[in-house]
This record gives sequence, structure tokens and C-alpha cells, in this order.
Amino acid sequence: MDFSWTSDQLAYKNKVIDFAKEQLNDSVAQRDENSVFSLDDWKKCAAFGIQGLSIPKKYGGTFEEVDVLSATLAMEGLGYGCKDNGLPLALNAHMWPVQLPIYQFGSDFQKETFLRDMASGKLIGCHGLTETNSGSDVFNMETTAVKVKNGYLLNGSKRYITLAPVADLALVFAVTNPKVGKWGISGFIVEKNTEGFEIGPNKPKMGMRTVPFGELKFNNCFIPDANRLGAEGAGWSIILSTLEFDRCNILASQLGAMERQLEESIAFVKQRKQFGKSIGDFQSVSNRIADMKLRLESSRLLLYKVAWLKGQGESAMMEAALLKLQLSESFLASSIAAIRNHGGYGYVTENEVERNLRDAVGGVIYAGTSDIQRKTIANLLGL
Ligand SMILES: Cc1cc2nc3c(=O)[nH]c(=O)nc-3n(C[C@H](O)[C@H](O)[C@H](O)COP(=O)(O)OP(=O)(O)OC[C@H]3O[C@@H](n4cnc5c(N)ncnc54)[C@H](O)[C@@H]3O)c2cc1C
Repeated sequence: MDFSWTSDQLAYKNKVIDFAKEQLNDSVAQRDENSVFSLDDWKKCAAFGIQGLSIPKKYGGTFEEVDVLSATLAMEGLGYGCKDNGLPLALNAHMWPVQLPIYQFGSDFQKETFLRDMASGKLIGCHGLTETNSGSDVFNMETTAVKVKNGYLLNGSKRYITLAPVADLALVFAVTNPKVGKWGISGFIVEKNTEGFEIGPNKPKMGMRTVPFGELKFNNCFIPDANRLGAEGAGWSIILSTLEFDRCNILASQLGAMERQLEESIAFVKQRKQFGKSIGDFQSVSNRIADMKLRLESSRLLLYKVAWLKGQGESAMMEAALLKLQLSESFLASSIAAIRNHGGYGYVTENEVERNLRDAVGGVIYAGTSDIQRKTIANLLGL
């Protein structure tokens, strides 16, 4: 078993870290306070090649072919270097559940029309799955797409959609055949300004405030056949196939954030003195740091295993569920630990310690809640 990275992979990760530290950390606290998305940072990432990591060079991607392991390491570097946790969430929500399925399942027309502009930063994509009555029970969706001449009429709505308020296109899933359950779901690429398609404003939320999220509404919205992604009824397999990539990379950026958080905690407890010595000398504080390190490294092993399996073209249902559960819960637990380590300083917003806690809460909800990950694990164990 070989746990080492190639020198090229490590060099690219370091390049991403340097880029993120130098170019993506301006006024994060203010943008968090005012819920402002930075289109500027989005474009900088595109120019650097981040949005090109999920598609091959032929369609505007960064490398000749998509290399899942290298992309995971790069997204980890981005999460480490960029203090704005919302930006990696936004990038991942655009790259893996929208760009990648268009590449994997799209027609030549769809690839040519959308991918290059999505990689260059010109177009922003969002992924529309969740509905008012269908969250965890995702395949029980109510949005319908009824076949008409040359296309479909879409009716229904989606909510809590990352990037929706700033998106140029949405990959939306709807029921095309209600008689066959999840086999009757199809994917559609819906472009902004399509008649009958309305995008709601940003919904204020607890954390990840620098990435907007909101509603997508469809009212007799005509989608041409050319914008159906894959075959009719292929929606379920498209969703499942991209979910593991999505979990792997969103969580990679969170792993990077956890590493940054641990380093900041260590630096703080070394320099902060109480009772005449560094608070890091008190065992209750150093134990907390040790637990943060354990959460980081155990999450890392699961992350790299999922990335490796996906890189081999293998299914990773169990591993991705274990990873999602472990890493998102670890970031949440370590974010509270980091506030405890910093005392009152950690609780004050301007010191940028407490933001991780608010950002981490979303991680135990999106891409399948922790309960749903446990359910998946138990089901795969035959329960
Ligand atoms: C920051 C953020 C970004 C998001 N981005 C997107 C996006 O880009 N696109 C998108 O489509 N969606 C997105 N979502 C929505 C997200 O995927 C859903 O919120 C999530 O799947 C849960 O659905 P729900 O909110 O309807 O909760 P519900 O499904 O109603 O769950 C409520 C509670 O019941 C529990 N529960 C439900 N069913 C079970 C069960 N069978 N067993 C045990 N417990 C259960 C849940 O774990 C949870 O604790 C985002 C959410 C957040 C917070």
C-alpha cells in the first residue's frame, strides 16, 4: 500500500494554496456579515484553472483528463488556503454535480455549449434537486416534466439551491414518468431567462453566507429536447453517479479548512498565557488539540480512499457515506473545540474563529444529512 503523492500532485496543491492565500482572502469577514458573493474571486479561480478540474482539456478543462485524486488534493489545498469556506462550497457545487454530469452524460451539443464557458468563469451552474416535500426523500420529487412537441413542460420548484441567485444555468431533475418511481426521473439543463423559469433571491442563512442560495421555480417552462441530459429516465443514475464525486470534493475543501483551523488553534494556545504559562501546557487544552488532530487525520484517510476508488472508476457508496458522516461531523466538533481553545476571543465575530462553526453546520445537512449517511451505511451492512 502506497500512501505517497507524486511530486507533481504536491506541487499543484502548493500552487493552489499560494494562490488562495494571496488572492482569495480579502474582506471575508465583511462579506460574511453582509452575505456577499464575490464574482471577482470566482473569476480568479477560473483563470487559475479550478473550475477546469472536473472536465478534460478538450472542453476547457485544466488537465488532459480528469484526475480525481489530483483534483481532490487541489480542492483540499483550496480549503486550506482560502478562509472563505463559502467559495469552495460554491465551486464544488458548480463543478461536480453540474459540470461533471454534463461532461459524462451530455450530448456533443451540450458539452460544446456549456462546458468551456463554465470552466472559464463566464457561466455559473447550480444543481436543483431539493424540494419543499422532498429533501432526504430525494427521489420522491414533485416537479414534473411533461413531454410535448420538441421538448418538455417543466412545473414545480426547488429550494435551498447553492448559487441559484447568481446562476446562469441549472441542472434540474423532474419526474417524466410517475409510474416507475425513481426510474421515471430525468435531468434537464435550464438556462436563465427561459420563459416560465424564475430564480428567487438569496435566502439569508446561518453560515456559508458568502455563497448565495435560493429557489428555482418552473411554471409551464418549455425545455427543448436538446437540453435533456442523458436518456429519459436516466436522472436517478446521473444523480447517484455524481454524488460520490461531489461528496469527495466538497469534503476535501472542508478537510483543508480543518487543517488551517488546527494550525490556528495550536499557534493560539502556544502564545496565550494564563496562570503564568501557555494554555497549551494544560492537559485539558492539549487533549482537545489532540482530538482535533485525530478527527483531521481519520477524516483524511477516508477522503483519500474515496478519491482513490473514484480514480480507479470504482463505486464507493459505503466509503463516501462513511466519509461524509465522519468529515462533516468532525469539522463541526473541531469548530466548537477551536472556539473553546480561543476562549472569549474565539466567540467574537471579528476574530474569524466562530465563522467555521456556522459554516460547518451546513455540512451535516447538504449532500445528505448525517442521519441519511448512517441509514446508507446500515443499509449497505444489510440492515
Ligand atoms: C448550505 C446548504 C446548501 C445546499 N445546497 C443544495 C443544492 O445545491 N442543491 C440541492 O438540491 N439541495 C441543496 N441543499 C439542500 C439539502 O440537500 C437538504 O437540505 C438535505 O438533503 C435535507 O433535506 P431537508 O432540508 O428537506 O430535510 P429533511 O429531509 O426534511 O430532514 C429533516 C430531518 O429529518 C431527518 N430524516 C429525514 N429522513 C430520515 C430518515 N429516513 N432516517 C433518519 N432521519 C431522517 C434528517 O436527517 C433531518 O435531521 C443545501 C442545503 C444546505 C444547508
